[in-house]
Amino acid sequence: MSAVSVNAWMEAASAAIAADAERLTQLDSAIGDGDHGTNLTRGFRAVVEALAGSEEPAPGRRLILAGKTLVSKVGGASGPLWGMALRRAGRAVADAESLDGPALADALEAALAGVVELGSAEPGDKTMVDALTPATQALRAAVDAGQPLADAVAAATSAAEEGARSTVPLQARKGRASYLGERSIGHEDPGAASTVLIIAALGRALE
Ligand code: ADP
Ligand code: MG
Ligand code: MG
Repeated sequence: MSAVSVNAWMEAASAAIAADAERLTQLDSAIGDGDHGTNLTRGFRAVVEALAGSEEPAPGRRLILAGKTLVSKVGGASGPLWGMALRRAGRAVADAESLDGPALADALEAALAGVVELGSAEPGDKTMVDALTPATQALRAAVDAGQPLADAVAAATSAAEEGARSTVPLQARKGRASYLGERSIGHEDPGAASTVLIIAALGRALE
């Protein structure tokens, strides 16, 4: 249990998103256009299929394939953003034979940097960045402290959950929800909610 399997991660993320698609879509109906659940369900299903058809052994290459698939399958904001995240994550661990704790921390940091570069959201703008930032920081801190990977992933998941909850009272400053101005206050950001599912899926992908 000291590394993450990319295939198992994407399969667990896909299953969790499909199971929660209705909730994600409801969150997006409140402050967006109501397609977040269907966008990500379609995208992650395609990722699982692409990975199943690939014989690429390197985790970095598999993450890049996952990212490219999301970009090509999801038109909404979340496709390009998670696509960028996973491609950057893959590039950051290009030389790694396995996605162990330090490699996973590198991957998440690169993913977050890619999302911020593409979407220019800062923490507090009420986006997926509000969940991904604390998750990445918690994972890095736990790995640096020498904690087992399962504990580091659990810490990242709790941090993501707290980050997603923290978006409720915020006014959106990026993405579609920002068009609502003050009316975006009082709702959880759908992209932060799905980020919790994707981070939590790491915990079901340990090998
Ligand atoms: P769309 O808004 O195009 O319909 P989705 O509904 O799939 O796309 O995704 C919406 C989510 O994307 C938001 O809840 C937010 O978390 C995230 N998002 C939107 N714009 C940005 C941005 N500039 N930076 C980071 N995340 C963003
Ligand atoms: Mg939407
Ligand atoms: Mg849309």
